[in-house]
Amino acid sequence: MPVVHRRRRVTASAPIGVSRVEVGREEEELVLQVLRSGWLAQGPMVERLEESFCDLTRARHAVAVSSGTVALVAALQALEIAPGDEVVTSPFTFAATLTAILNAGATAVFADIDDDFNVPAHALAAAMGTQTRVVMPVHLYGLPADMSTIEEVARSASVAIVEDAAQAHGAAVAGRPVGTWGLGCFSLYATKNVTTGEGGVVTTDDDALADRLRLLRNQGMRGRYEYEALGHNYRMTDLQAAVGIPQMERLERITASRRANAAVLTEGLEDVPGIRLPGTPPGRTHVWHQFTIRVTPDAVLTRDELSDRLAGCGISTAVYYPRAVYDYPCYRAHPRVRVTPTPNADEAARTVLSLPVHQGLTPSELERTVDCVRGLLGA
Ligand SMILES: *Cc1c(COP(=O)(O)O)cnc(C)c1O
Repeated sequence: MPVVHRRRRVTASAPIGVSRVEVGREEEELVLQVLRSGWLAQGPMVERLEESFCDLTRARHAVAVSSGTVALVAALQALEIAPGDEVVTSPFTFAATLTAILNAGATAVFADIDDDFNVPAHALAAAMGTQTRVVMPVHLYGLPADMSTIEEVARSASVAIVEDAAQAHGAAVAGRPVGTWGLGCFSLYATKNVTTGEGGVVTTDDDALADRLRLLRNQGMRGRYEYEALGHNYRMTDLQAAVGIPQMERLERITASRRANAAVLTEGLEDVPGIRLPGTPPGRTHVWHQFTIRVTPDAVLTRDELSDRLAGCGISTAVYYPRAVYDYPCYRAHPRVRVTPTPNADEAARTVLSLPVHQGLTPSELERTVDCVRGLLGA
């Protein structure tokens, strides 16, 4: 793309955030309906939200819970994970992936990531042992892991799949939506592609697992005071569900905007020296939760310098994530965290930078982002 130099004071414009909550009249009206109904806890709105997740993923069941972290914990508990069991996951993820494994009582084992920032099947296979019960790929930044090959590896070793789909609402592999390759765990936290403020959903085709998830969510209770299992309160409220329903109805448009924005960034930045742009491997549907570039050693600025200078131009960026998830004293010292070298994750942590790609960006904000990155990197 030709560089268009315009004389303008970019810093005078409103700052561009890496995420922006977009809720409108429909959300307001549904929330008001809940407030006026006198039923604020889990009820008909939660059921409607669950149906929208069944529609999205084509899974038989969707169980709404109070957060994405809780979705992961509940999925592991539904699989009856016990102490001594191992869960193999990505080292390049948000802390919740790891804390869910630890809170469910399992041991966390890591398989290093590939160039697409996700764990490949061969690395999962290499990290699996006799105690492995679950593989937990993370669909990072909205790009699904290569589930076709991961499914083969999991099936041949008879281990379950729990997908951390917190960032990947609507993503698919070979036309099959995420959340149907295993137990699918979605987050509805404020910054995600769909939000209820806080919230989560587990999807599954398995009737028995869905039943167990519903029991666990509600104190292990089958009927009134009929306790069948040690459960918890994992419920979502109708107030939250009411915020999510209209967004689920708009999700195709939300994703299309993110995809179009990613295309503009790609076209505008593709020839810039010193960065590598995110790609979409064949067969996978990216939903662009983040547009994450890598700043390479030949760049005229370091990653952190580029981030600071972009902030100076009013463009927020973020580093997801600055370290491998286990690389903190509290996790390194944890008896159920198995630390192994993950050089690819370490390298990603040093070089990644996420640029704004969300559906609320205007064409001029995108243009500003492209111009600033180009200008700062001497393109
Ligand atoms: C957001 C997120 C979670 C956890 O979701 P919460 O709703 O914040 O509990 C888990 N994994 C990943 C990769 C996430 O980005």
